[in-house]
Amino acid sequence: MTGFPPEERYARQIRFAPIGAEGQARIGRAHVAIVGVGALGCVVANQLARAGVGTLTLVDRDVVDASNLQRQLLYDERDAASGTPKAVAAARRLAAANGGIAIRPHAVDLTAANADTLLGGADLVVDGTDNFGVRYLMNEWCVRTGTPWIYGAAVGASGMTMTVLPGQTPCLRCLFPEPPPGGSLDTCETAGVVAPIVDTIASIEAMEALKLLAGRTEALHGKLLQVDLWRMEWQPLGIGHARRADCPVCAERRFELLEGDTSREPVTAALCGRNTVQVSPAEPAALDLERLAGRWRALGDVELNAYLLRLRRTDGLLFSLFPDGRALISGTDDPGRARRVYTELLGE
Ligand SMILES: [Zn+2]
Repeated sequence: MTGFPPEERYARQIRFAPIGAEGQARIGRAHVAIVGVGALGCVVANQLARAGVGTLTLVDRDVVDASNLQRQLLYDERDAASGTPKAVAAARRLAAANGGIAIRPHAVDLTAANADTLLGGADLVVDGTDNFGVRYLMNEWCVRTGTPWIYGAAVGASGMTMTVLPGQTPCLRCLFPEPPPGGSLDTCETAGVVAPIVDTIASIEAMEALKLLAGRTEALHGKLLQVDLWRMEWQPLGIGHARRADCPVCAERRFELLEGDTSREPVTAALCGRNTVQVSPAEPAALDLERLAGRWRALGDVELNAYLLRLRRTDGLLFSLFPDGRALISGTDDPGRARRVYTELLGE
């Protein structure tokens, strides 16, 4: 349905003076890419779609799982039962809420190889991921292209967020020069996460997005904002002097992740809190899922839908395969085992 005139649909937002009709028009012309449509990304995507952001690109590598339903508000039990890719399920739900905007779902992993294709043309990139590797890649892409981006993270009942304006504010590497060593940080898996902190951090991200898109950059909070909702503590850390003269990304403009060697080997990554390992081929493939479905029927229960092929193996592993050769192997967090199963099913 696109039959609702914008001045009616967005009346309350236009009435808010700092946005007004001009800000709303800018929001309507804007393109925002949201990377990760998990807990944070669902809230941001929901608010920006309803606010009338003209084009939304949604990038997420995962499928909907029962443990997502506690906080990921765009998904329902049917999506979890069928293992629908999050980007697809989110796009469907958002299109029902606002048929007047363009929504581009991509059920893929953001990589150095596809970042230009996925993020190119975006006026703003918003972080909905749970993973420092992807954030560092986003940071490099955004600094290189001069695209603003908004960092956000939540675990337990606390979270943090910061808005990065390349060339003006510190970037993520200025504040966190090295990725935290594996196992040193609480994750959603070890510490859990409750919905209110997710909604709070994501709402701050969405508010910053609307300020930026409406052209009101003077209203951005300009802090590294840390929030603990259990203790009800708000700590805005000034970052005005935190730009580092030796930052490899925003000062020296070395983009190691974007320009690094691309592996010839399939790459594995454990998905936080999911007992799932992702295996990505060195080069994207173009698989005939229907033919594979026929071959795999002897190996367990096979389901094929428009987005992926799923095999529930007799050993309990659930193997979800995308047409580009990327697979999610649920029921293990052992990358070695996931690689072996992948090779067994698809060859080298
Ligand atoms: Zn920097």
